Amino acid sequence: MQLLCPHCESELIRSGESKRRCEACHTDFILSIECHECGEALQRLKACGAVNFWCDHCNELKSKSSASYILVDA
Ligand SMILES: [Zn+2]
Ligand SMILES: [Zn+2]
Repeated sequence: MQLLCPHCESELIRSGESKRRCEACHTDFILSIECHECGEALQRLKACGAVNFWCDHCNELKSKSSASYILVDA
């Protein structure tokens, strides 16, 4: 999934598991994934190459489409 810098709309490069970096404006971001329904942070679960998310608050498994990607300035 390709994310764009919220400041300059350049493509962000992956600099870690949940880190992204904008080379154009030299800004580091932390990628946080939140539940679409309740806004709680989701835990990333990896199984057989597919990524799913677990919400502690809803107490259920979430697919990518139920997750909101939030970029936080590091
Ligand atoms: Zn940028
Ligand atoms: Zn939830």
